Amino acid sequence: MFLVGITGGIGSGKSTVAKLFSNLGISVIDADQSAREVVKPGCPSLKEIEQHFGTEVILDTGELNRRALRERIFTNNAERQWLESLLHPLIFEYTKLQLANAPSDYAILESPLLLETTQKELVNRVLVVDVPENVQLERALLRDNATKQEIKAIMAAQISRSERLSRADDVILNDNGREDLDSQVLTLHQQYLTYAKQK
Ligand code: ADP
Repeated sequence: MFLVGITGGIGSGKSTVAKLFSNLGISVIDADQSAREVVKPGCPSLKEIEQHFGTEVILDTGELNRRALRERIFTNNAERQWLESLLHPLIFEYTKLQLANAPSDYAILESPLLLETTQKELVNRVLVVDVPENVQLERALLRDNATKQEIKAIMAAQISRSERLSRADDVILNDNGREDLDSQVLTLHQQYLTYAKQK
């Protein structure tokens, strides 16, 4: 299966772009969704997280308290690494499984951490959704219930715009209207159909 990885900073428009590909009949695998699946109640990884961080990262419902966990790892690199070494391989395997079941001509993997993890090994092409940083901040603020500082901290923790762009095979510049976005997606879709046939 020919697989295109979509990545970009917070608020760049990854989900919006992935949805447009999905509207064209392309299977989209969402790495964030996979990340939630692998820690559902009953998963051994959730028990390990509880043993490591304590019950304060578990909600009364038995689900993971993502906000509490995020707070624990955000300023603590060692804890973040511990969590990533537990979860990233599971997300990788879960993604592969979904890929095997994808019914379309090619598939999309939407992931904020595509370039930072082994997920990049799964994809044939990297598509970066790019916007200037001020637009990114503006859109994330409009969408999320978060402060400017919180969004800026997330942006600072992600790889830089220039680093991301240097690793792109294709780039969508999403600082124009929705129509322009539609047409960029359509052009890439045609290309990807051709690449998928050649593979
Ligand atoms: P990401 O998944 O990269 O975090 P989203 O796709 O959720 O980003 O987009 C962030 C916000 O910006 C959303 O509210 C989305 O509706 C909006 N958005 C995306 N593309 C555009 C665009 N071309 N023009 C205006 N708003 C946009």
